[in-house]
Amino acid sequence: MNARIPTPSRLATALAMALLLIACNKTDEVAETEAPVAEPPTAPPPTPTLAIKPAEGAVDATDEAVAATKDQIKAAAAASREKWRGKTFEEFEATVYKEPGEDGKYIIDGDIAIPDRKLLQEYFKDIQNGLNGTAGGKLIVNQIGGERPPGMPTAIAVNLVNGRPDIWNSAGKKQLKYCVSTTFGARHASVVADMAAATQPWEEAANVDFLYVPAENGNCKASNQNVVFDVRPVDVGGEYLARAFFPNDQRAARNVLIDESSFQLAPDEELTLVGILRHELGHALGWRHEHTRPESGTCFEDSQFQPLTSYDRFSVMHYPHCNGGGDWSLQLTGSDKAGAACIYGKGSNNTENLSQCLFQMPDVATGSVATENFPTETLALSQMKQYGPFDVKPGSLVEVHMSGAGSSAGDPDLYVDFSRPPELSRWICRPFLSHANEICDLQLPLNRRKVYVMVRGYTAANYQLSIKYVRP
Ligand SMILES: [Zn+2]
Repeated sequence: MNARIPTPSRLATALAMALLLIACNKTDEVAETEAPVAEPPTAPPPTPTLAIKPAEGAVDATDEAVAATKDQIKAAAAASREKWRGKTFEEFEATVYKEPGEDGKYIIDGDIAIPDRKLLQEYFKDIQNGLNGTAGGKLIVNQIGGERPPGMPTAIAVNLVNGRPDIWNSAGKKQLKYCVSTTFGARHASVVADMAAATQPWEEAANVDFLYVPAENGNCKASNQNVVFDVRPVDVGGEYLARAFFPNDQRAARNVLIDESSFQLAPDEELTLVGILRHELGHALGWRHEHTRPESGTCFEDSQFQPLTSYDRFSVMHYPHCNGGGDWSLQLTGSDKAGAACIYGKGSNNTENLSQCLFQMPDVATGSVATENFPTETLALSQMKQYGPFDVKPGSLVEVHMSGAGSSAGDPDLYVDFSRPPELSRWICRPFLSHANEICDLQLPLNRRKVYVMVRGYTAANYQLSIKYVRP
């Protein structure tokens, strides 16, 4: 029950504020129903309120304010460590919302999905070690392990996985194929139109292409490999309005799920499904919540991001109720357009000055491609096997694919690093899923020229491995 009823403080941090308020009202409704009858049975049910205003008390991004926020984060992590000391993972798991269905994901920070129970277990361990925190029900993560680029400031925009930008490569960004499930029924045509409307401003801002593939609508689910992501309805009872994914997520986690509550928005409010989808597609391009920057003074999530532009209180990725400046129309600002172009290059209609970019991706280096396929390998529990190093061209793309072999594939885990053989706590890419099919698609930094691969038996496992890279 707890997992389905956000606490007020968690409400205050989750994306779908409107929907969260609905959930809150539902809680009240249940409480009233269970209590002795206090009002006539003819009383109308509580009306979900969508009257959302930016929070008050915004802080300026002075060094002092940012330092104070960081101190609060540390204190929250320490409090979380105390809260969960001696508790079991199962007790923690019960407090985290999980989507219904077999492929349901764990949801944190409002609309961010953790795709696998193994990852949630690791997350819990970090909380117990004081590395992560939950503040009043809100989960907070600090940078753990991995390489942190020198001089990387702690502010926003692109998602980082162990210090590397989590973005589409130069080929992938032009092939963002998606389907819209026919299970939307009578709403299907309007969802298709809303997706088109939501992808357009991102395509105008950045050199990315979302490609609608109607032929896959009838089989539009997480297992469909003919699309990059699927757009489906979900019934999470208002836990979120919609949720998406980050570029480096594995296929099964790359979904845009739209809750029933997104279709119940008041027509006279700013919040629309198109606006919600603009925000969610921002995550799908790699953007974090802007309000995780300490400058927002609230709603901090974690430090695993790289700022692309100066802090923008009006960003489409900033929840208005987290000291945001915008209304709930969730439009792209000039900074959003610039930030998107800092990473992907300019789209068809973007007049922003890119000299404001605090970080830019280098062009992808091309050349002679090598593919190496390795024979089927068997690992015992906890056994590790190293591959490489492979000599590769700096700035080029590397694809490492692992798949299960035979009927007892088990659960091998794939690890990739650029500067040394991967270790359990040190890697650039590690999907860490509960099965054998894992992929790492990466762009090599300009100062790296080798790729190291490791596979470890999380259980006994049989797998095949292939690596595709550009020769130096
Ligand atoms: Zn979000």
